[in-house]
Amino acid sequence: MVKRVFNFNPGPATLPLDVLEEAAKATVEFNNLGMSILEISHRSKDFEKVLNDCVADVKELLGLPDGYSVLFVGGGASTQFAMIPMNFLPAGGSADYINTGEWSKKAIKEAKLFGTVNVTATSEDKNFSCLPDMQAVKVTPGAAYVHVTSNNTIFGTETFVFPDTGDTPLVCDMSSDIMSWKFDASKFALIYAGAQKNIGPAGVTMVIVRQDFLAKANEKIPTMLKYKTHADNNSLYNTPPAGAIFIVGQVMKWMKRNGGLAVMEAKNKAKADLLYAAIDDGAPFYRGTVEKPARSRMNVTFRLPSEELESKFITEAKEGGLVGLKGHRSVGGCRASIYNAFPLEGVQALVDFMKAFAQKNG
Ligand code: PMP
Repeated sequence: MVKRVFNFNPGPATLPLDVLEEAAKATVEFNNLGMSILEISHRSKDFEKVLNDCVADVKELLGLPDGYSVLFVGGGASTQFAMIPMNFLPAGGSADYINTGEWSKKAIKEAKLFGTVNVTATSEDKNFSCLPDMQAVKVTPGAAYVHVTSNNTIFGTETFVFPDTGDTPLVCDMSSDIMSWKFDASKFALIYAGAQKNIGPAGVTMVIVRQDFLAKANEKIPTMLKYKTHADNNSLYNTPPAGAIFIVGQVMKWMKRNGGLAVMEAKNKAKADLLYAAIDDGAPFYRGTVEKPARSRMNVTFRLPSEELESKFITEAKEGGLVGLKGHRSVGGCRASIYNAFPLEGVQALVDFMKAFAQKNG
């Protein structure tokens, strides 16, 4: 039995142990084929079943209505930043972007290569420590779509409310909170997420796209960068990241066994509440960096009185088996990433460590 640490890394991140064990077995042999999941053909019946079961489980867990395609592609969520405008921002057109942090900014940068970007709301003036009022966001007449980031992994903000965009398609980067709460997927024309936080390993990105939106996509773009290519070929136009898709499939089964999105949400809320309470009770030694209504359940960001103490905190936490608590290099401080598979006991262990550390160093 491996001794596992509590892994607070922001992604790649903690995966459920039973999923890892299943993946370990399948990496040696899969379905009595005398080959592993990494070696079988992506065109085989066995792999097709892995893929189709995974898609069906995603649809079931999200309660997706008919009319959506679930795709698995490579290139990370970062490639989606370019694929979205390449497919959906017509020449001479514009798209609306809500700027809530580093990842939104990267999405905006790519979109500007293809057309006009209207930043219709931002919290940049507050250093991204809060979120704009999503319900007050106005859609620019003629905008091809509205792009929003649901969870800002670096700054530790998350929205559970989305703008009402009427007939204008709503596109969302859910890389760091996909399937962590029960949301209404039918509000979105396109959702994308790198798998490596809540739903699997790095190397595969899930895209959920409404087919009527897909029908509007630009045809004159490279084949591999066209969503339609992947939708028309059930993500099998080329060799997909098969091993990563297998693990996403196992995570979907794990979520189903464990009560689905409503249970994930309740557990994520309990974990986040416990940790934020420790930060607030530990003030002024600990200081949350985000305004309370915008606090993320996935990435909990906080500061200590000095950078020296932060560095000592991170080092001593690591010695105690609490790993990956350093904040993003662009903002500093501490960040605890507590996605779906991260256990409540790990948050409790961090809270106990925080109390002891504050007593010794406060
Ligand atoms: N969007 C968000 C919200 C993210 O957190 C990340 C990665 N941390 C990305 C996009 C980029 O993902 P990738 O590394 O898969 O390109």
